[in-house]
Amino acid sequence: MSTTPEPADSHDLIRVQGARENNLKDVSVEIPKRRLTVFTGVSGSGKSSLVFGTIAAESRRLIDETYSTFVQGFMPNLPRPDVDVLEGLTTAILVDQERMGANPRSTLGTVTDAHAMLRSLFSRIGEPSIGGPTAFSFNIPTTTVGGASVTESGKKNVIKQQVYLGGMCPQCEGRGTVSDLDLSQIVDESRSLVDGAILVPGYTADGWMVAAYKAVLPPEKPVAAYTKAEREDFLYAEPRKIKVDKINITYEGLIPKIRKSMFAKDIDSLQPHIRAFVERAAVFGTCPSCDGTRLNESARSVTIKGRNIGEVAALQVTDLAAWLRTIDDPGVAPLIATLLHLLDSFVDIGLGYLSLDRPSGTLSGGEAQRTKMVRHLGSALTDVTYVFDEPTIGLHPHDIERMNKLLLELRDKGNTVLVVEHKPETIAIADHVVDMGPGAGSGGGEVVFQGTVDGLRASGTRTGEHLSYRASLKESVRERTGVLEVRGADAHNLQKVDVDIPLGVLTVVTGVAGSGKSSLVHGSVVGREGVVAIDQAAIKGSRRSNPATYTGLLEPIRKAFAKANDVKPALFSANSEGACPTCKGSGVIVTELGFMDTVSTPCEDCGGKRFQAAVLDYRLGGLNIAEVLELPVERALELFTAPETKVPAAADILARLQDVGLGYLTLGQPLNTLSGGERQRVKLALHLKEKGGIYVLDEPTTGLHLADVDNLLGLLDRLVDAGKTVIVIEHHQAVMAHADWIIDLGPGAGHDGGRIVFEGTPADLVAQAGTLTGQHLADYVS
Ligand code: ADP
Ligand code: ADP
Ligand code: ZN
Ligand code: ZN
Repeated sequence: MSTTPEPADSHDLIRVQGARENNLKDVSVEIPKRRLTVFTGVSGSGKSSLVFGTIAAESRRLIDETYSTFVQGFMPNLPRPDVDVLEGLTTAILVDQERMGANPRSTLGTVTDAHAMLRSLFSRIGEPSIGGPTAFSFNIPTTTVGGASVTESGKKNVIKQQVYLGGMCPQCEGRGTVSDLDLSQIVDESRSLVDGAILVPGYTADGWMVAAYKAVLPPEKPVAAYTKAEREDFLYAEPRKIKVDKINITYEGLIPKIRKSMFAKDIDSLQPHIRAFVERAAVFGTCPSCDGTRLNESARSVTIKGRNIGEVAALQVTDLAAWLRTIDDPGVAPLIATLLHLLDSFVDIGLGYLSLDRPSGTLSGGEAQRTKMVRHLGSALTDVTYVFDEPTIGLHPHDIERMNKLLLELRDKGNTVLVVEHKPETIAIADHVVDMGPGAGSGGGEVVFQGTVDGLRASGTRTGEHLSYRASLKESVRERTGVLEVRGADAHNLQKVDVDIPLGVLTVVTGVAGSGKSSLVHGSVVGREGVVAIDQAAIKGSRRSNPATYTGLLEPIRKAFAKANDVKPALFSANSEGACPTCKGSGVIVTELGFMDTVSTPCEDCGGKRFQAAVLDYRLGGLNIAEVLELPVERALELFTAPETKVPAAADILARLQDVGLGYLTLGQPLNTLSGGERQRVKLALHLKEKGGIYVLDEPTTGLHLADVDNLLGLLDRLVDAGKTVIVIEHHQAVMAHADWIIDLGPGAGHDGGRIVFEGTPADLVAQAGTLTGQHLADYVS
């Protein structure tokens, strides 16, 4: 536990008075500077509205104002947050869970400068010596500039040829992979066209898409028996005109056809079943020329102690640090010391199992957030306000202890640290706590307590009560109805894992970060038939969608509006006829700023309501469509179950949203403003009625207050009691204690993990307590 620094004097405060963003009810708080303040409260109580929407937003606006008037001319005015007084702000840096862009050229090494230091090291002491650090960069090609040119008068002009040495592999252009299609996922060669040889979604044997192939090729002959010419024609033919049933159509080989219609498209824009197919069928092979190292031959030829830069970048960070410590060359000692300092902070923050060559787009939200934190730990800036959004996501209780140390370290460097967090372990280290509530949405928006952690415990607020809450182990667990066999799983770090996942029960998969939980569940369970995976990933087109459009709720509501007013349903869609012409129904005007982030400001014509003025004259139960979309789920449920305004189809969907703990969510809130946890719960609500028998969830307690976790457990119980199998990856001890079966991976992370260290009931896990998870669960339930 930390020693609390001297109390802040009264000038050393961030003062917020009269904050009214979203649901905030004239909130006033005083936050001590250069201290660690944790914001708590049930989800929807207003933590984000205060911390991100008010404090961080105003800090950013003030920074934007420091640009010259010339630059400001290009920037729309960010609206000032709705607050009376904000004093004592310092520059705020947001360290969030937003995943890092999927740019295939960006790796953990390139985003943290670690790779730049490695390049420098290789250019200085690598053998043989081949020139500057760029020669080791896989993002820089080798180019030749110069040569001879002839002027108009015929004079020859010789410019000395210059070769710029980059390290990029010419075949894969520095990506390390080359893409290909897995033919076995596209065609079942043992079958003929009439028995469904084509496995592509939408290509049913007697459907229109296959008719062209049946007209050109022998329809009853198995594909495996095709002649070479037939096979070529089937798979690769260039487009040509043919007639089928007297209709002119274009015939094209299957591969180029689906490449264009499916594989060349933005994956997020595809329908879910097509997207699943594309993900199955697109294989990224290791580049044969560079063997996945992304580097050209010259860069690979240079070694230090027998290893080239590609091999070094592939080491897991803990191993890389150990290797660097064996280099004993005074010339590069300062460089190595700086690099080791950076790598040690990776280890401290629980990321020691990653390698520097890991594509940054493949990091999970929690890993991305911790990577950003590493960047700031090395920063020379002080007196900055760091704002964290649930930094413990993805962390095992064991990892949380280390994360806490780093938060305190940031504070001790003279920074103000603001953390939105639910985990008791992190609340416990706060110098100051601001507890929001008492409820969510309009039932929240107040500060129900501010002060010390001990004060919070004694305060009687829901958070205070839950801080000392201990779960009890279940008396009895459910009986399995069968098993899902996993054999020889070896994705990433998994060491040929054999495991039987029980069916018909609630299974919790545990283990420290990097132990292989996602690799096991996503690699061996997700993708099988009947498995519904519910993740926190962004939802496509999310600027225009909202919970009402995404869950299909808007359909019955529009119909009810149309019926009540005797007009067309399409009028009540902000994506079609009813749209405000100025913002085309998005409610905002988005300005691309090129070199900076894009900024959106509310549309002035419709005031952000998204509809044409005329549409708003039509009412249902006294409300117009924009007003209905401003209702929280809870209120909308009341409306659509009331006798005069009953819409059963809408009420059914709303009840599911309420069930997943989203009663406070506004129907029209843009999906891109939801947190990862909220997104996951919206998806859960949408899938609740699906036929799939197996549900897979990744850390569903993300964003949930301890009080909300109880509701989630009730929901998972209902799913299992309805005959479904539920598999969750979780770190929350309350969820572990509630499991019927636990699968614990470990013992460590990366190559020190990847094995099953325990399978059994929570009670057995506690009784044995041989694993880290067992110890932490034992502490929690005791
Ligand atoms: P917390 O961070 O405690 O979960 P939030 O500050 O996100 O709570 O939400 C408080 C209330 O404000 C909720 O009712 C939520 O639906 C609403 N809200 C949050 N963000 C927005 C937004 N961008 N637009 C409209 N309403 C919002
Ligand atoms: P957990 O879910 O338990 O945190 P993961 O399954 O994400 O663990 O990671 C287990 C190991 O697999 C780690 O060493 C991690 O770096 C590696 N790994 C995970 N995803 C990828 C990926 N997309 N590419 C390469 N390695 C990965
Ligand atoms: Zn290559
Ligand atoms: Zn508008």
